[in-house]
Amino acid sequence: MKNFCLVLREKDEMKLEERPLPEPKAGEVQLSIRSVGICGSDVSYLRKMAIGDFIVKKPMILGHEASGIVTKLGPGVQNLKVGDRVAVEPGVPCKACQFCKIGRYNLCKDVVFLATPPVDGCIANFHCHASDFCYNLPDNVSLEEGALIEPLSVGVHACKRAGVTFGDSVQICGAGAIGLVSMLVAKSMGAAKICVTDIAVDRLKRAKQMGATHTLLIKEKDPKKVAELIKEKIGEPRVTIECSGAESSIQTAIYATKSGGTVVLVGMGPAQVNIPILDAAIREVDIRGIFRYANTYREAIEMVARGDLDVKQLVTHRFQMEESQNAFDSFGKEGVLKVVINCESRS
Ligand SMILES: [Zn+2]
Ligand SMILES: [Zn+2]
Repeated sequence: MKNFCLVLREKDEMKLEERPLPEPKAGEVQLSIRSVGICGSDVSYLRKMAIGDFIVKKPMILGHEASGIVTKLGPGVQNLKVGDRVAVEPGVPCKACQFCKIGRYNLCKDVVFLATPPVDGCIANFHCHASDFCYNLPDNVSLEEGALIEPLSVGVHACKRAGVTFGDSVQICGAGAIGLVSMLVAKSMGAAKICVTDIAVDRLKRAKQMGATHTLLIKEKDPKKVAELIKEKIGEPRVTIECSGAESSIQTAIYATKSGGTVVLVGMGPAQVNIPILDAAIREVDIRGIFRYANTYREAIEMVARGDLDVKQLVTHRFQMEESQNAFDSFGKEGVLKVVINCESRS
């Protein structure tokens, strides 16, 4: 069995390399990786070799949104068996610190997260992973859907942090993959009205197709005026999920949100922005951050299995591992939402 891996060598340079078949350590399983979604972070590492303080200093395998089939059990593994189809949760925390103990393990300082330097990712034929961070997929959930549980988890975490509930009006800023998964999750959690905003018409068209009750094309620069336009559509949103990271959009999010409501910041933009903090303070608008997700996989898989939401409609492009360059090149182009690479071994 050969094990080809997609290795980021240098800026804008990646190569399929053969590496030894990884052996599962205690508590790990060896997986034949099947689908891996490409994430904005993978593309950033390829283009810039860094995201904030995470700098790629040595060759690194890309990819962290994965599913696979268990091919071997490491010592002590009891929760899985060979042949199981699983979704892979890419961040494995220390399981011992305060954050881990209270279940907020996404805040663990010692979390090991795939394709975050110096940790290798999983665009590879084979990968070994902590067995308790691999989740069985029901028969009616495909391996491609299994890979999409990762981005879906971001939406689940965002909606939970926002406390989305039945009858809510929800504003979603940004109609990229994360904006749309947040929209899908908000809808399945019972949101009655969901407005999605963006600066691109084609993205809004897709948001509408996927279930947004309202969309708004942002042409206006004044965030207060944009907030008024949102309120005209869905009333004052009790929850706003900001997925663009843009300063003006964060300002709009605060102005638009109903007094006593919640703004969740999902999008990552500049490190410092100006926001109308007094407006938020005197109207008791909570501003909440998001870092990845925790305890979302089982719920997200259940949502997909029950048919509460259709996650596969996010995938617009599919490639074989040998075509990884094309897969990465297509990212961000018009009409491209989620790109998935098939990593099944063919040797
Ligand atoms: Zn991702
Ligand atoms: Zn920890």
